Amino acid sequence: MKKNGFGMFPPQAGKTYNITVIGGGVSGAVSTLELSRAGHRVTLVEGKTLGSGSSQRSAACIRQQFSNPSTVRGMRFCVEYFKLWKEIFGEDKQSPITQSGYLFLKGWEQNMGSVANLVEMQKQSGLDDVELLMPEQINERFPYLDTTGVKFATWCPSDGFLSPVTIYQDSAEAARNLGADIIQNDAVVSAEHDSVGISCVVLESGRKIKSDVVVNTAGAWGAEVSQRLGGATLQISPLKRYLYFAVLKSEGRLISQDYFDALPMVITPYGSYIRRESPGTPGLMLGKLHHTDPIVPSYEFQDVIEAGMGIHGLNDYGFSVHREIGQFFMDVQEASLRSVSSGMYADTPDLNPIISFDTQVKNLIHAVGFSGHGLMHSPFTARIVTQMVEAMSNIEQVVLPESFGKADVRPYYLERDYSSKEDLVI
Ligand SMILES: Cc1cc2nc3c(=O)[nH]c(=O)nc-3n(C[C@H](O)[C@H](O)[C@H](O)COP(=O)(O)OP(=O)(O)OC[C@H]3O[C@@H](n4cnc5c(N)ncnc54)[C@H](O)[C@@H]3O)c2cc1C
Repeated sequence: MKKNGFGMFPPQAGKTYNITVIGGGVSGAVSTLELSRAGHRVTLVEGKTLGSGSSQRSAACIRQQFSNPSTVRGMRFCVEYFKLWKEIFGEDKQSPITQSGYLFLKGWEQNMGSVANLVEMQKQSGLDDVELLMPEQINERFPYLDTTGVKFATWCPSDGFLSPVTIYQDSAEAARNLGADIIQNDAVVSAEHDSVGISCVVLESGRKIKSDVVVNTAGAWGAEVSQRLGGATLQISPLKRYLYFAVLKSEGRLISQDYFDALPMVITPYGSYIRRESPGTPGLMLGKLHHTDPIVPSYEFQDVIEAGMGIHGLNDYGFSVHREIGQFFMDVQEASLRSVSSGMYADTPDLNPIISFDTQVKNLIHAVGFSGHGLMHSPFTARIVTQMVEAMSNIEQVVLPESFGKADVRPYYLERDYSSKEDLVI
């Protein structure tokens, strides 16, 4: 790592701990790195292999357009963190971020005044490049879109999408170089306790890891892991979500190559979304939030495409997503769906994560319940966790580097009333 810490705090003498992080997705990997950079002795325990949960199954988008000012600040920090990747991890690494923007199309049922207030709040939280666009501006900037039924839009060009594997692999490798121990294929099954809290975590193999602090980053398994450790009951619902993949026809399409190369994440007024699958390829990724009942988290079931959710039956959900997007992005009507994948969201009742000390086990921190935004959140999560370890208690505000200021962490406490719902969820 060439750059010593984008605002990272130096370790404080006498305050280095043995920390066990449970779960090797992005939250666990980036937290392991940041805790190692702060001077702690960290062991990351992953039940399968790195990225075996939602991190590998994500739409992987990153946006700063949120309805909670703390999350706006946090996501600005994350965009900067990902932009500095090569500087932090080395020039030979790939940048994990493509900043192609987010365009939220809004329909006639939307109140423009309240969305304008939201944009104003985002600007006041430092998101300078977010703007409200009228249909004529949308037509001018995105001429391949059909704006029938669109009343206005919000647009932020510095939003985009990420490469999850780059994030968890590079972070784990850098943490290992700083002395962290990365254990894979050995799940945490229980914990031993003393008067302070957890004294060691016990793995499936029988191995015991002495721990001053334990961090639960087990994603959709977060509530289950808390139970195994004797922690509080966490209000997390694992929910199945699906992504659909298509390839745009190379001939006879309305969108020019230049516009296609710059294609942003487009969210229709109905909530379906589309982006390029990866830079430099003709692939497209489509998705939409839908109602679903919670499931018991399961590795096998993550990838099961249940009847009705695929792309084969006439009535399958994939086709309704495809049709909705085709209404606004006409070239998509000609692009047939090729495949479908699935994974799990881990929703809390207010769709904000839980980043908080446990209420029953003193030295247990949870960083779980990220709904559909845990991937983009990972540097912010790691930052909060690191400062909580330094304080050894919940913190009200997290200090971000340079121009990002401070962000309120109270919306992420375990003990909150879960009534301030995050409105911008896709
Ligand atoms: C279809 C879909 C689209 C999404 N789109 C976006 C998006 O556009 N942007 C975004 O930011 N987020 C998105 N998300 C959400 C995002 O992927 C997750 O919030 C994020 O990956 C969570 O990362 P994590 O590290 O917290 O959890 P995970 O990646 O799920 O990692 C948890 C890990 O814990 C391990 N584990 C479980 N139990 C144990 C145990 N007992 N012992 C040890 N290890 C254990 C698991 O094996 C797993 O590897 C999407 C998710 C899905 C499914």
